[in-house]
Parts: sequence; C-alpha cells; structure tokens
Amino acid sequence: MINKKQGLTRLTGRIVVPGDPDYNQARMEFNKRISKFPRVIVFCKRTQDVVNAVKWARENRVPIRVRSGRHSYEGFSVMNGAIVIDVSQMNRIRIDSKQKLAKIQTGNQLQRVYRTLWQKRVTIPAGTAPDVGIAGLTLGGGIGLLSRKYGLTLDNLKEVEMVVPHGRFGAKIIRCNAREHADLFWACRGGGGGNFGVATSFTFKVHPISTVAIYSITWKWKDLEKVFNVWQKWALSVDNRLTSTIQMFSKQVGTVESTGQFLGSASELRRMIQPLLRASTPLKVRVKTVPFIEATKFFAQIDIGLLPKFKVTGGYAYRAVPKEGIRTIKRFLANPPNKHANVECQSLGGAVARVSPTATAYVHRHAKVIFELSARWRLNQEQKRNITWVESFRRAMTPFLIGDYVNFPDLEFKNWPRAYYRNNFNRLTKIKRKYDPLNVFHFQQSIPPAKNR
Ligand SMILES: Cc1cc2nc3c(=O)[nH]c(=O)nc-3n(C[C@H](O)[C@H](O)[C@H](O)COP(=O)(O)OP(=O)(O)OC[C@H]3O[C@@H](n4cnc5c(N)ncnc54)[C@H](O)[C@@H]3O)c2cc1C
Repeated sequence: MINKKQGLTRLTGRIVVPGDPDYNQARMEFNKRISKFPRVIVFCKRTQDVVNAVKWARENRVPIRVRSGRHSYEGFSVMNGAIVIDVSQMNRIRIDSKQKLAKIQTGNQLQRVYRTLWQKRVTIPAGTAPDVGIAGLTLGGGIGLLSRKYGLTLDNLKEVEMVVPHGRFGAKIIRCNAREHADLFWACRGGGGGNFGVATSFTFKVHPISTVAIYSITWKWKDLEKVFNVWQKWALSVDNRLTSTIQMFSKQVGTVESTGQFLGSASELRRMIQPLLRASTPLKVRVKTVPFIEATKFFAQIDIGLLPKFKVTGGYAYRAVPKEGIRTIKRFLANPPNKHANVECQSLGGAVARVSPTATAYVHRHAKVIFELSARWRLNQEQKRNITWVESFRRAMTPFLIGDYVNFPDLEFKNWPRAYYRNNFNRLTKIKRKYDPLNVFHFQQSIPPAKNR
C-alpha cells in the first residue's frame, strides 16, 4: 500500500494504486505491447497537484514518469515501480480571439483541441490521431496536415508553464517564453517530452480556419514504385497550402493511398493532383470541400481500427528515395509478418523548413519527407516476428533515411542522441544541467545533464 503521507509532502489529485478497481485501466498505455506496473498514478487536477507529486517523488526517492495522452511508442510515460504524473484531467482551453492566442492545458487530446478551437473558427497545426496528447506531440514536434502552411505544432508555441525540480527535494512552477527562461523554451520546442519537467499549459498562436479541400486517391499495390516516385517529387513541389501523405500497405491489403489537405478550393486541388493521377490509373479518387472540423475526422478515421500492439520506427528522407530504396519498401511490404504492416509518409518542407535547425531544438528542418514503418499484432507470440521485421526494414532503409523524429522513438536506435537531435544535443544537455542537474526526469532515452567541466 502507498503511504500518501510519507515524507513531508502529501500527494493530491486522484490517486490510483495497485489493488484499486481502476488500477489496470490507469496503468495501460495506448500501445498494449507495453504493460508496466507503476507504484502510484496521480491524476492531477491542478498545477499544485503536479508540484506535490514531484516533491513527493523526490522526498521518497520514487522514479517519475510524466504522462498526457499515453501515446509514446516505447511507453516512456510509464514504468514499473514509478509514480506516473498524469495531467490528462487538466484540460482547460481558453481562447483569446483578439490576440489570436489559445491557452491549452497539457492534458488535452487533439480532438478536444480541434473541437474547442473550431467553435471560434481557429486552429493550430497538429497531428491526425484524435487521442494523441497535446503535451507529447508539442514538446517533440507536431507534424500534421497543416505543417507546410503553418509549421510544426511547436512553431506556434508562445509560452510553456512547467513544473521543474528545485533544490534537493523541491519543485517549482516556471513560465518559459522568448523572454523568460528562453533557453528552456528553446529546448521545449523539439527536445521531446519527459526531459525537463512537467508541462502544465501551453500558449499557442492560433490561425483562422473555415473550409478546406481534401483528397484521397487509391491505387493498386503493383503500382507502388511508380506512384511513390511521383508522389515524393510532386508533394514538395506543390503550393505550401497543400500537405499530403502516402500510405503503402502490405501486398495482402493490396493498395497504396495518398491523402492531403489543401487550404483552397476543391477545383484548384483537382488541378493540383493531376500529376499524381497520371502516375498510374487510380482505383478510386475523392476530392471535396469540407468544414475543417470534418477534415480532422476524415484523417482521424485512418487511425481507427488498429490492432492493439505495435512497433513503429521512423526516419527522414532528406532527398528523394532512389529506385533501389523504393524497391526495398516494396520487398518488405511483400513479405510482412501479417497484413497490417505498412509504411506511411508525410510531406514536409514549406513552413517547417523556413525555420533554422538551430532556432528550436527540433533539428530536422531540411528533411523532405517523414517515414513511419510499422507492424501491428494482437497476440504476444506474434511480437518477436513483428519487431524483427520492423527492425530489419529500418536497417535496410538506412542508406536512404536519416535520423528519426523524437516523437517516433525507437529503443533499437543505439545512437539516439544523434538520430533525434544531431548538433542540438550538446545544447540540450547544458539546458538539462541548468534545470534538472540531478536528473530527476529521466527514462531510457532522456537527455542527460552535461557534465560539469
Ligand atoms: C496512433 C498515433 C498517431 C500519431 N500521430 C501523430 C501525428 O499525426 N503527428 C505527430 O507529430 N505525431 C504523431 N504521433 C506521435 C506522437 O506525437 C507521440 O507519440 C507523442 O509523444 C504522444 O504524446 P502523448 O502525450 O499522447 O503521449 P505520452 O505517452 O503521454 O507522452 C509522450 C512523452 O511525452 C512525455 N510527456 C507527456 N506529458 C508530458 C507533460 N505534461 N510534460 C512533459 N512531458 C510529458 C512523456 O513522459 C513521454 O516521454 C502519433 C502516435 C500514435 C500512437
């Protein structure tokens, strides 16, 4: 049993411990491959609950995990024996239409963010899955279907409120922005979640939005090479108001699909997709104008119905993938562990690339396309085969991809500091030393504090 009054500080908020009826639900991640047994889970309702939880953990020497939407691919938001500081019940959103700002508590999931902002016909560029947490998404990047026009989610961040360690056992609330704690603000934009403290609220610049045009085109799997080659060149050459994806499914599923969102009319979009339509004869083409909120649901549908356990890895193409690389993709998708394996890519460039790789901690500004290689399964006995496939696939793609997105973490990356952060890593370790010198916030791939010289 947990002694809520151990040490000096008392835990506050909704506290769930082993044996409680909701413990099992409270401990699980979105990825059911991860099954850990924390010592206590605190569902914080106010920032002070977060402060108390960090202090309690430090006083009692209990490792900390921070959690918002539970979508970490490798389960970095949970750990055996740890205290999980969960902010998901901190989900207020305040919109200042005049200043074009929104203050969003970090417990919000993307669908709630989109829906609430839509009431005022504004939005932020963010990801597609409805239940991803705004916290993990923003701190690592935030890639979505408005990226080429409005940048990453973190490019729209103006301020972060964060609970950071203080002294030997304490914790304090600080605000970081371009003027105050500007070094930490830099690190919060691409350094990745769980590294420096617990973010409790974000202030974002918001953009007016009304209707958008969307498309989806489906081809036969046999056309994969032709279609991907045309897509990868076309997707970056088109107007920045269009961001697009391509999903290459397994041979058994038998299709390739490209989708995209355009801030303009359906007739203009129809003209823009002509090169794609000429790549090979499509099986199905849809182009329509919809209210933006409907578009978020359309792209969310693609994520629904997945099998519960998965392994995903990522990588960036800084140049067009040559024929040999595309053949590698086709070869792996022809021999998957099951039919649910796939490859998903999204176009970058545009507003993402207009920011320098050193202006924020997010370093992969000049990448053209982001790749996700994934396998999904249901039963434990299928796990090894699926993970082995993903890892062999990643290794086979090494000549064509560079690094990885910190929000698509992969424990198999031995040189993860270089993969996620390249030349920004040293600066991140110095900021870590300043704000968390005792490494209170650490996990398998967290940024270590720089050593004192
Ligand atoms: C189905 C699915 C779809 C996805 N789609 C997209 C997409 O469209 N675009 C995209 O860019 N990414 C996407 N991702 C990746 C996603 O951005 C990352 O998984 C992200 O880290 C999830 O954040 P979370 O808050 O949901 O997860 P969590 O597991 O709660 O947290 C992720 C990381 O952030 C830390 N963290 C959580 N809350 C806080 C906090 N309040 N303060 C500090 N650190 C915190 C955790 O400790 C952990 O290290 C997707 C992931 C999945 C599983």
